Amino acid sequence: MENLLVAENIYKRFGKFTALNNVSINIPRESIFGLLGPNGAGKTTLLRIINQITMPDEGKVYFDGKPLRPDDVVHIGYLPEERGLYKSMKVGEQALYLARLKGLSKHDAKERLKYWFKRLEIEGWWDKKIQELSKGMAQKVQFVITVLHRPKLLIFDEPFSGFDPVNANLIKDEILKLKEEGATILFSTHRMESVEELCDYIALIHKSNKLLDGRVSDIKKEYKSNTFEVGLDAVDEATLRQELEERFQIGPARFKSIQDDLKLTIKLKADESPNDLIRFLLTRARINHFVEVIPSVNDIFIKTVTQNA
Ligand code: ADP
Ligand code: MG
Repeated sequence: MENLLVAENIYKRFGKFTALNNVSINIPRESIFGLLGPNGAGKTTLLRIINQITMPDEGKVYFDGKPLRPDDVVHIGYLPEERGLYKSMKVGEQALYLARLKGLSKHDAKERLKYWFKRLEIEGWWDKKIQELSKGMAQKVQFVITVLHRPKLLIFDEPFSGFDPVNANLIKDEILKLKEEGATILFSTHRMESVEELCDYIALIHKSNKLLDGRVSDIKKEYKSNTFEVGLDAVDEATLRQELEERFQIGPARFKSIQDDLKLTIKLKADESPNDLIRFLLTRARINHFVEVIPSVNDIFIKTVTQNA
C-alpha cells in the first residue's frame, strides 16, 4: 500500500459557505506533501479534518489503509496554525508534560527533549517561561513537541510563518531530515518559497477547490513549454537577433550574467529539440548560457489560479 494517508471527496460546509468542495489528496509514504493555496483556501480546514478536530460533512479519510480512527492520533504529530503553549509554564516543564501526554515515559521524554533542544540550539531555554520567548522561539519549542514521539505522519500548518529566514531554513532542514528518517510529512503554506526544495508532491487549493495535484516533477513537465534561455555573444548582434526572429519565437530573458551579451528566451515548436537550436546558434555566436525554462511552482500556481478565475 503506497499511500499513508488518503482523503477522499471531502466536503466541509460552515452554514451556507462551502470551505472544502470535493477535495481529495493522497499522501505517499515517506514523502513530503505540500498543501498550497492563498489565505482562506481551505488548507487549515482540511488539516483539522485529518486530525479529527472537525468532521467532514462528506468524504472519508484513510490512514495506513484503514478508515481513520480516534486512536490513530498517536501516530500523528500536529503543529496547529494557532500555536498554543501555556504562557506561564516553564519551557522544559511544559515540554515534558506534553511529551508524557503523547505516551512517552518520563525517562524517554527527557532524553529526547534534551536531544532536540541541543539539535535546535535551545538548551538554554529549559527554565524560561513561554511568555519570555519570542513568537519564533515559542514556535521552535512547539515544533519539538510535535515531532518528539516520532509519529509516522507529521502535519505542520504554516510551519514557516512566524520564523525569521535563518530559523525558517533551520526548520526546513529539520523537515528534510525527518523525511530521511522515515516520516511522512504534510504541511500547508500560502508562501511558495520553500516549496520547491521541500515537496515531492503538492496540491493546490483555491477557494475551497483543488485545482491541481501530483508529483512536483510531473507537474513541472506538464507545464513546461519547450522554451530555452540563451546568452549569446556575437560579432553582429543586430543581425543575429533578426535571423533568430525569422526562425524562432523569441522573448526577453530574465537571467543576469556578467557578460554584456544578447539574452533571450526562445520557444521551440513541439517537434523541435534544443539540439536544433544549438545547431543553429553554433556557427553564429558563442553560447554563454543555455538552460531550459522550468516553471516554478509559483508560476504554475498563478497560471492555474488565473485560468480558473
Ligand atoms: P486557509 O488555511 O487555507 O487559509 P481555512 O481552512 O482556515 O483557510 O479557511 C477556509 C475558509 O473557511 C475561510 O473562508 C474561513 O473563514 C472559513 N472557516 C474556517 N473555519 C470556519 C469556522 N469554524 N466557521 C466558519 N467559517 C470557517
Ligand atoms: Mg490556514
